[in-house]
Amino acid sequence: MSAEMQSYIDEAEKALLHTYNRYQVVFDRGEDVYLYDLDGKKYLDFVAGIAVFALGYRNEAYNGALKSQIDKIIHTSNYYYNVPAIEAAKKIKKITGMDRVFFTNSGAEAIEGAIKTARKYAYLKDGRTDHEIIAMNHSFHGRTMGALSVTGNPHYREAFEPMIGNIRFADLNDFDSVMAQVTDKTCAILFETVQGEGGIYPASEDFMKKIRALCDERDILMILDEIQCGMGRTGHMFAWQRYGIRPDVMTTAKALGCGVPVGAFVMTEKVGGASLAAGDHGTTYGGNPLACAAVCKVIDLFDEQGVLANVNKVGAYLEKRLDGIVEEFACVQTRRGAGLLQGLVFDRQVGDIITRAMNKGLVLINAGTNIIRFVPPLIIKEKHVDDMIEILRECIAQTEGERQ
Ligand SMILES: *Cc1c(COP(=O)(O)O)cnc(C)c1O
Repeated sequence: MSAEMQSYIDEAEKALLHTYNRYQVVFDRGEDVYLYDLDGKKYLDFVAGIAVFALGYRNEAYNGALKSQIDKIIHTSNYYYNVPAIEAAKKIKKITGMDRVFFTNSGAEAIEGAIKTARKYAYLKDGRTDHEIIAMNHSFHGRTMGALSVTGNPHYREAFEPMIGNIRFADLNDFDSVMAQVTDKTCAILFETVQGEGGIYPASEDFMKKIRALCDERDILMILDEIQCGMGRTGHMFAWQRYGIRPDVMTTAKALGCGVPVGAFVMTEKVGGASLAAGDHGTTYGGNPLACAAVCKVIDLFDEQGVLANVNKVGAYLEKRLDGIVEEFACVQTRRGAGLLQGLVFDRQVGDIITRAMNKGLVLINAGTNIIRFVPPLIIKEKHVDDMIEILRECIAQTEGERQ
């Protein structure tokens, strides 16, 4: 590492709050599916800023749209209308088949909004203020207090107790465990269509359909968190779209703006017309013209560049190659996932393999301690998968070798 890069890292550790154990690299620029560090070293990127930068770095059309919006106007207030927000909301309605959009600045804020929506919806029905939300063990919904309260990982929550009240936990894909938590106070059932941080666990079709039926029967809101698994990652625009059901409320973020911080919670008219009203919720930045210009361009480019077709094609290829790794190495137990959201489950911690890959110019990330997560830009090609697999095989072989 150059003295320059090392000195930036040293300065970072003096100036930034140490809430991340960071890899020892300063990324400087990107091009297509590659990142470059300050020293000019090139890396193949299979993380995309954790499922964010779907369209590849220095995408000309995307950058151009942002530049022209910057020269027009970056921000106004939500007390006024702006064209990018109106256009972005229309596009989101079209790709979700849902009706009402609220723009946020992050995923966690979209979850906060979904929680408030559910509580207000139930409150308007019976006037009670003790409604409950059922969330899932091993889920991840963000770091703000509300989002943390529905995150099923006690380790993330403990030091920050008390959480917001009346959250109950069940197990994804175990309908009976959900039923065991349902009471007459339940106002929402919230889960990721594919659990991301928790280990790349897709919800089963049976589970989805049973939750949908339960929610219909009892007028409970079904809230799906699509922040990581949505926006084309599984080969559908949103992961729930392959099950033939529709949630009442959905959260999205990450790839929605492809790097410009923006999220949204989206709902059906039934919920929109009977929950949050004027004065109930707001945000200074959420849905500003710059963020929404990004959303508009991202959704257009998904269409123009055939992103879903690419995810289905290259996703299938990635699955095949990862299954090959499972066959080849004893320490790799299984593969899970859908499309370009995949996890390889190891019988050991994966930090060492990821560090080795970084050294060889491949960016990977974990999900939990023993899973390598693959969330590349959605425009990758088979040849990038081949390059990734070659480096990964070397790294796994080296760790296995050292154990023996
Ligand atoms: C990343 C993520 C969040 C939180 O989003 P932030 O933008 O980091 O607040 C919430 N839910 C899921 C499923 C995520 O992957």
